[in-house]
Parts: sequence; structure tokens; C-alpha cells
Amino acid sequence: MAQDIDFANRLYYDYENFKEKTINQRRFKHSDLLPIIGRLKNNTLFKVKKAGESAEGRDIFLISAGSGDQKIFLWSQMHGDEPTATMAMFDIFNFFCDESRFSEFKKKLLENATVYFMPMINPDGAEIYQRRNSFNIDLNRDAVRQQMPEARILRETFDSLKAEFGFNLHDQSTRYSAGNTFKSATLSFLAPAIDGNKTIDTVREKAMKLTAELYKILSSFIPGHIAKYSDDFEPRAFGDNFQRWGTSTILIESGGWKDDPEKQFIRKLNFIALLCAFKSISEKNYSGESIETYESIPNNEEWLMDLLIRNLTFKIKGREFLIDLGINREEVNVNGGKNFYYSSYVEDAGDLSVFFGYEDYDFAGMEVSLGRTYEKVFNSLSEIEKINFKELYREGFTAVQMKSANPDSGGSLPEYSALPINIILNNKPSPRENIEIEGPADFVISKEGIVKSIIINGFLYNIENSTGEIKNGLIFKQ
Ligand SMILES: [Zn+2]
Repeated sequence: MAQDIDFANRLYYDYENFKEKTINQRRFKHSDLLPIIGRLKNNTLFKVKKAGESAEGRDIFLISAGSGDQKIFLWSQMHGDEPTATMAMFDIFNFFCDESRFSEFKKKLLENATVYFMPMINPDGAEIYQRRNSFNIDLNRDAVRQQMPEARILRETFDSLKAEFGFNLHDQSTRYSAGNTFKSATLSFLAPAIDGNKTIDTVREKAMKLTAELYKILSSFIPGHIAKYSDDFEPRAFGDNFQRWGTSTILIESGGWKDDPEKQFIRKLNFIALLCAFKSISEKNYSGESIETYESIPNNEEWLMDLLIRNLTFKIKGREFLIDLGINREEVNVNGGKNFYYSSYVEDAGDLSVFFGYEDYDFAGMEVSLGRTYEKVFNSLSEIEKINFKELYREGFTAVQMKSANPDSGGSLPEYSALPINIILNNKPSPRENIEIEGPADFVISKEGIVKSIIINGFLYNIENSTGEIKNGLIFKQ
């Protein structure tokens, strides 16, 4: 174990040498992978095989390294908007190519084992950054019925390999917490069930033991941030069936890490987890681990919100209440999934003392009120750009009005702007009275009548010390 943690530490500190630098954010596409895969084709270390084509005709590849009898099979991104492990796979290819580091480990591994990688099984979904494939079918419910070409490719490859170990690589909500804590579930593992009774046969037991070891190793980097995914049996999913059909299968879900929206740190953790898994498998180190350690991993729970503000006073209809305010931010795809903007909403209000926030504040003694709309009607975005926003914030305004024919964009406007204010088109909005659950996350925080902070589209900005960043405002078309 100590030796494995040492190995993981060396991976951690040497990682930058291996990182595939052409991919540095989540919204990469199949076409971004092709030049890298082209390079691998010319490298004798790898066998690159076209395994089939997606519904829209994109090639799905099986890339293998090594010549050993022990087969390890990894597949990623069957959900198009879950790319973290795909990035890590390309880092691992670079790790294999590197000639100056970890030579002894690699030589042994590739003699003992053959590692098969199937990155980005759902390239059509990745193209528009959505979970499902181009027919809007969830591939992870098609393991048995086998209607989708991508699901057939995965299943046929699985059948042809009959690997000893399998890694089912996904991304989960960033708002899972590791147990009942404020710590995000940055990585969640699961040795999926093989039936509704959650029977532990020898195949699943091996997956549990390896997971236990990975849990211990990775905990040294992100203590308290590792959880166990729900083990409810899903008879239509790949992981559950692959386990049932004889491959010891581990699900790895990449979750959230504060201030890592592009998941580059979590990608690094995937890189470490997978290489540690290869080492453990080829040296059979996992066999000394216990199911009890696996069972002790805290469950994924839902106690996290993006922004949580506690102990605010809210006045309405002559009454006064103490409330906590919980806000979540959704990413909305734009430009065919190439970019996104944030659209935030009130998740909950009231006594939220059992929850935690990625950003978590106690504003006892402060008052919260609903953001208001500035009276003046502007003609264009360029006019609004020139506003002194801080002045508006001080007055409690979270939105401005604009005429709908916008000369900046030939009349059509998106749903958002990069400006740190909301924009309301055309009509004077009817003022809101009450906090609406799932409604707008635009608020004013004040103390003794003086505005201290503003919340616009779920982003908190402190006026006095100019901290916080409103990443984008929304444009409401009335
Ligand atoms: Zn998934």
C-alpha cells in the first residue's frame, strides 16, 4: 500500500509532462481527437482499430497497448457531455509514449497486461455536448436491447475481449456530496450490482476490492471527497450487465471540485486512478483489500448547492422572516454546444441548515430583497455597456430595460449577455413580490438600508470590496 501511494504521488507530481495539451477544456469534439489518434496510429506502442461508426458516421476507435494476457477494458463518454475521463485517456497515451519516466512500471505492465481504450463512444452527443446520442437515446439504457450503433459497438467489443477488468467512465452532477458533508463528491466509484439483491459474486468482489484500494490511494489527494455511487441495479445499463457477464467492472464518476469548472484537476485524478488501477491489477495488489473498506465509502448524497446564503431577513407584506437562500447555476449550451452560459434559479428558501454550498455565507443581520429593474429604457447593448454598474447595484437594480430591436445584433438577441446585469426587452416588467422557487436568482443584500452585495443570475458580487464575478446576465424577452 505504501508503495502504491508513492507511485500515485509520483504520478501526481509528474502529471504535467503527460497532459495532452491540445485538450484543455470540456467541450472538445471528435474532430479534436482525430489528429491525436492519427499520431497513435504511427506509434508501434499502440494498436488502433476502427471499431465502428456512430449514427452520424463518426469513427469509434479501440486503442490498445501491451501484449499481456490480462485484459483491461476502458470506455468513456457514452454520455456526450461527460468528457473528463476521455481527457485522462489521452494523458495516459502520452504517459505510455514518454521514454524517460516510469519505464520499469510500463515495461512490466505492458508485458503482463493488454489495456484497451475506447474513448468517446458517443461522438455525436459530444458534438453538441449532450448526454444522449443523435437519436436522443440514452446509450446506457441500450446495453441489452442494442438498438443504437454506438451501443452495439461497445457490446460487441466487450464480447470479443472478455476482459478481466472493465472501467465505465462517466461524469456525474457536480452537486453530489460525499456523504452528509460539505465536501463535493469529486470522484464517485461503484462496483455495479449484478442483480436486484446486490449479490456479491467473485467477479463483483474483485471490483469492490480494487475500488477499496483506489479509494484509499485517491483519498490522500482529496480526503473526504470520494463517494460511492448508488448501487441500485439497472438492468438496462452497461456497467451492471458487464459485471453480470463476467468482467469485474468499476464505474468512475467525475463530479465537482470547487473552482474547477473545466474539470482539469479531476481529469488529473482520473489519470492517477486509472494508472493505479492498472498497477494493482497487474500486480494483484487489490486482492489484499476488503469489502468492508468498500462498504465504508460514503454514499453520494445531495446536500450541495452552488450558492447558499444563511440567516437573511426577508420582509414581505408587513411580516419579517429569517430565511436561508439556496441557488443553483445551470449551464445552457450555445453555438451547438461549443460554449455555454449560466442560467441560475432559486433551488430552495427557508431553513436550509442541513445543506451546504460550494459558496457558503452567513449573512446574519442582513436583509434580502428582490432585485429591481432600472426605469430607463436603453437602445442597445453598447449603450448598456457604458453603464456604471456599481451605481445601479447600490440602488438595488439587478436588471435594465432595452428596446427589442437591437442595432448591435441586427434585431435578434441571444438569451444572455456577457454584461453583469440582466436585460429585459420591450416591456416594463411587472415587479416581483415574492421569492419564487425555481424562479430568478436576482437579489439585493443590504444592511440598515445600505446595499452591501448583489446577486445577479445566481452570482454574488460584493460592492464594498468588489469581490465576486457575475459571469453573465440573462436577457428576458417579455
Ligand atoms: Zn453518464
